[in-house]
Order: sequence, then structure tokens, then C-alpha cells
Amino acid sequence: MTRFNKIGYFGEYGGQFIPEILRPALIELEDAYNKLKDDPQFQQKFKEELHDYAGRPTALYFAENLTKHFQKAKIYLKREDLNHTGAHKINNAIGQILLAQYMNKKRIIAETGAGQHGVATATVAARAGLECCIYMGAEDIERQHPNVQRMRLLGAEVKPVHSGTATLKDATNEAMRDWLANVKTTHYIIGSVVGPHPFPMIVRDFQKIIGEETRAQIQKKENHLPDYILACVGGGSNAIGIFHPFLEDAEVKLIGVEAAGLGIDSHQHAATLGRGSCGIFHGMKTYILQNADGQIQLPYSLSAGLDYPGVGPEHSYLFNSKRVEYNSVTDQEALNAVALLSRIEGIIPALESAHALAYLNYLMPKTQKEEIVIVNLSGRGDKDMDIYITHICEAEKNKQ
Ligand SMILES: *Cc1c(COP(=O)(O)O)cnc(C)c1O
Repeated sequence: MTRFNKIGYFGEYGGQFIPEILRPALIELEDAYNKLKDDPQFQQKFKEELHDYAGRPTALYFAENLTKHFQKAKIYLKREDLNHTGAHKINNAIGQILLAQYMNKKRIIAETGAGQHGVATATVAARAGLECCIYMGAEDIERQHPNVQRMRLLGAEVKPVHSGTATLKDATNEAMRDWLANVKTTHYIIGSVVGPHPFPMIVRDFQKIIGEETRAQIQKKENHLPDYILACVGGGSNAIGIFHPFLEDAEVKLIGVEAAGLGIDSHQHAATLGRGSCGIFHGMKTYILQNADGQIQLPYSLSAGLDYPGVGPEHSYLFNSKRVEYNSVTDQEALNAVALLSRIEGIIPALESAHALAYLNYLMPKTQKEEIVIVNLSGRGDKDMDIYITHICEAEKNKQ
């Protein structure tokens, strides 16, 4: 099995920590992907789908009012919120459904937390005419009802998971179990740059379109590369997607923003790189939130998309090598950023994306007027309206 030596590692992170019987499925997936990734026909099909179905390229928008607000560097927003289904997740879902079709799989499964990845997967499965089953924690089904209805309308079966804390990590375990049992007929579309090799690589490759477009767009508008790129980090797919094409450009500073929840010292957070340590989780070696016994420490973030106790292994590598700087902001700081962007730019961001925006408060005072900052606006806020009504609109009313 020499093929596994060092393959699938980012430095010391990544790998395949899985039951032996999943090996054939991962080998099949890796072989199929290796064949397709350099196949011009596959790449053209992928690009066409992104263009015609997802609505790419997404705009790189000069946020003039936000720039005036800080009176420092120019701020641009990469508008992943304009994608079909409202976030960057559709990029990966489109790539992976093409892979599944190539591998002749008849059935698609996925895990979902907030339901965003579930909706993206149900969407592409509907279009491909494939059976689709989405695992979702019973707790999350309660909290994210509109997305559950969307998935059902799209023809997917939503399977509630009651084990553990009935949230995303439990749904992921259940999806893995299903895959083990049905691997011949079934493809598992994982939702972020996590899990055993080759998933972190495949999802990154499908998401790096974000950074490739950004690079061309900013060159065209400003004739030089950005000085800073900010992105929120849950599992890390939107962040790696925009960062990856800039990794070799040392002058471009890359900043990932994790969820500090109620405060990074409160234990009620999801700052995996900020406060975690190395361990094995969901088939990969990476930073995780764990207690002294090596048990997963429950993450917390008001933003469901960031509420995950692990992070993609490539981020662990980029953190250790210091190529990317990771910071965190609290729920309240993210909510303030939602209110600001909505008011002055007329854009209601997803609560996840608002974490990257909130970090501008720390970054902007350090910037110069001639510099350029790009924020990856990973998704739109429609799905978060209940939270915004409670925490922003009602709070405003109470102040008056
Ligand atoms: C799911 C989600 C995220 C977090 O996932 P990553 O893999 O870290 O990108 C961020 N933003 C939005 C809008 C999401 O839906």
C-alpha cells in the first residue's frame, strides 16, 4: 500500500483514518478524480455548469461605502452570496455530482448542519435525477426548518440523527456509516475540505474557482494583487477556495476568521485553530477542539455553518507554517457586521460571512489608503433572518 505513503498529507495533517472497508471506495474516488482532473472535457463541463447553472463568475464588488466607513484601504467583496442556492457550497456540489455520474453512482448522500450543504446537494441531485439522502441532526432539523423543507421540495429524503448531541458531527458519523454499507451504489458528497483523503483535495480543487476569478478580477480592476484576503473558517472550504491561488504570492496576506462564539476564553466557541490541538477526527489528522481525555469538546457558534469542532487539514498546515493567519470574532461582533453591511451597502450577508467582515474592525486601522482588502462574502443572509430578527431588529426596537 505504498500509494498511501505521504499521499494525502498537508505537512503532517490529513491522511486517511478510516475503517479498512472504506479503503476501496476512497481508492475508486481518488482514481476517478485523478483521471478527470486533467481531462479537458470534464473541466469544460464543470466550468459550463458553474456558468450556466450556478451563475458564475460571481462579481468582485468595490464596496465604496464600506471603504468610506473605515477611511483606509479599498475594500472589495467577492460575491459568493450571488450563487444559485445562496453560497459557495454549490461549486463543490456541482463538481462532485459530475464525479458521481462519471463513477456511475445511482445514489447521493451528504451530511448537513445548517442545511446549506444539504440544499446544495439536493439541488444538484435533483437536476442529475439521482436518489438523494441527507443526514441531519435532529436538533438542527428543529433549528433550520426552512432548509429542511427546501431539501424535501427538491426531492431529497432528510434523515434525522438522534445520536450524540444530534448536530453536525453526529450527522457526519451517520453519513459515513451509510457510505460504508452502500459504497457500491452511493457517492458521499462531503460539504467542506474535511474528512479522509482525497476529500480535502477534491473539495479544495472545486472551490478554488473563487480565488482564480478573484485574481483575474482584481488584476483587471486594480492592475495588482490584493494586500489582504479575509475569509471565515468553519471546515474551511470557502477560505481555501479564495486563498489557494494566492498561496505562492508572499505579498498577499491571508487571514482566516473563526467563530469565537460567546468569547474565545468561554469554552463556548468554535475556534479550532485558535484554541484546539492536534487529533484524529472524521477520518483526518488535524486540529480539533478536545478535552484533556481526547474527547471532542462541543463547539458553539450562533452561526451553524461555523459550529464544527474540526478544521480542514490544509488549514492546520497553513496555520503551522504561518502562511495564513487565523483570528476569531464573537457572535456579537459578527451580528454588528451584519447590521453595518446591510445598512450601508444594501447587502445582507450570511452570519458565517459576517465573521470575516467583522474582522475588518481589527485589520483596517493597520492598512494604508493605497492598499486593497478583499473579503470573501461566502453566502447571503436569507437563511439567517430568524436570528437577525431576534438579535438585531428586536434589539434595536428595545433600545428605542
Ligand atoms: C457552510 C458555510 C460556511 C462554512 O463552511 P466552510 O467550509 O468553512 O466554507 C461559510 N459560509 C457560508 C455561507 C456557509 O454556508
